[in-house]
This record gives sequence, C-alpha cells and structure tokens, in this order.
Amino acid sequence: IRPEQPVFRFAPSPNGLLHLGHALSAIINHDLATAIGGRFLLRIEDIDQTRCRPDFETAIFEDLAWLGLSWDEPVRRQSDHLDLYAATLERLEGMGLVYPSVLSRGEIKAAVAAAEASGEAWPRDPDGTPLYPGHERDMSPGEQADLVASGRPFAWRLDVAKAVKRIGEPLTWQETGAGQSGETGRIAADPSAWGDVILSRSDAATSYHLAVVADDALQGVTHVVRGRDLYHATSIHRLLQRLLGLPEPVYHHHRLILGPDGRKLSKSNGDSGIAALRTSGHSPEDIRRMLAADTGERMRGFHSPRA
Ligand code: GLU
Repeated sequence: IRPEQPVFRFAPSPNGLLHLGHALSAIINHDLATAIGGRFLLRIEDIDQTRCRPDFETAIFEDLAWLGLSWDEPVRRQSDHLDLYAATLERLEGMGLVYPSVLSRGEIKAAVAAAEASGEAWPRDPDGTPLYPGHERDMSPGEQADLVASGRPFAWRLDVAKAVKRIGEPLTWQETGAGQSGETGRIAADPSAWGDVILSRSDAATSYHLAVVADDALQGVTHVVRGRDLYHATSIHRLLQRLLGLPEPVYHHHRLILGPDGRKLSKSNGDSGIAALRTSGHSPEDIRRMLAADTGERMRGFHSPRA
C-alpha cells in the first residue's frame, strides 16, 4: 500500500438484495479507483445481526462479480470488529461526551404526541424523526452509573451540543457529488440537526455512525462515494472524525435511483434488484447503460485529495 494511494470503498449491509442504486455506488467507486490508481475495498456492514443474513452477503459477492467488479481482499466484515467500536466508544466516554438513555421509541412517540397536542412543536431530524429529548444528559455521573447497572436496556448517545462546543469551530466537508439538488464544494456540517445520536446500545456494540467512521479511518479510506440518502449523516461523521482526531475523506453523494413510482428504491423493490435483472436476461453492459447518465457525471470535480 502506497501511503498516498487513494482508497475507495463500497459498504453494503447484507439485509436485502442489492438494487440499481447499490450497483451505481459500487460502479462509481470501482471505476474511480481504477481511473486514478486507487484501491477499491468492499466492506460488509453487518452490525445489525437481527436483519443481516449470510445468504444476502453471498448475493452481494455474486452480484458484484457479475457486474464485472473486483475488489481488494480481504473483505472487512464489521461484526468481526466489535472490539474496535467498543474501544472507540470508550474514547468518547473518556471525553465525557456520551450518556446512557433509556426512552424507547414508543415512549418518545408518546412524549411527542403529548407535546404536539398542547401545541408545542417537537424538533425533528433531516429524516423527519423526532429528536431525542435527552433528559438523562443532565444526570449526575452517579445517577448515570445506577441507570447502567439497573439492567434496563439503554443506548449510549453522543451529547452533540457538548461535542460541538468541544470542537469550537464550524465543521465542514468537501463534497464533489452534485447528487440530487446537491451542492459541491465546502459544505457546512450541521451535526446538531440530528440531536443526540445513538452510538451503541446495551445489546448491540455499535451504531452505523460509529462503525463507519472507525472503519473508514482504519482502512485509510480517502474517498467516500455513497447515495444522497447519507448526505446529512456526513455532518455526524465529520463531528466524530474531529473528536477522535481521524483524517477527513472527500465525500461524493450521488443521486438516488428512483423507481417507476418516483420513490427511492428499497431492498424489497424486486424488479430493480440486480439478481432479478440478471435472471430476466439483462447483461452487465445493460446495467452500465441504465446507469450511464449517472456514472458519466461522476468525474466532475473529482480529484485525489493527496494529488
Ligand atoms: N452500509 C450503508 C448502507 O448500506 C452504507 C454506508 C456508507 O456508505 O457510509 O446503506
């Protein structure tokens, strides 16, 4: 590995079959890596063991190989590295930036309903999910320890306001994807928009945000190419990177592929699944043709950050 070599990754979760949107991510990552002499990694994001399945993982390998893509070995599987995420969480804990929270989704929903019934607006994140009220944030360390010891299920949350204050200056990221209505250039991050995000749960060692940031750094990822649905998550990723002293990759959020109904594809959209397209007689070239408009746009403004 040359230290200046660009590193790209495609990081699917094996909780369903890949669709055209995944193919677009994988192809852009692979082609860019090839074009600028970089490495292309495949990472299996299987931390949610209730939804991930080995047969979906096998299908990922098959679909990508059928598309003609090859990736660097070994493939990193997140479920093999829970100790890294636990250690990363501990560092944030050491900075006094995490707290245990116990409200379930149902309890939050009830609190939101009660507030809205009395005419109070409840803040929501960019996905429309109500923000966590975060009252445990103000508990004393002793009360927090009691809560953890009580055996009640809880989630570790990041005290985002405190974390933002610790950084003490505005956070930004370099965006090269025009995406859907996206801007390119230096983008202002807004981590507070998410409220106090979950970093891990008492029954699951890590969250997506924590694992993705830890892995991108550990694997030396220099370019993060992914769908526009993760654009806003980048604010949290930049915050975690700065707190942990990790390098900053370049980001490229590509357009989402929409189904005939104009909605974002999901893993249950059978028709646009890669496996379904394959068995209905399409060739890998057909898939590339379907995505040509999007893969063609990809080079705009793209460069190696270390070139
Ligand atoms: N595992 C995530 C997903 O399948 C993608 C993570 C990322 O690219 O940052 O949606």
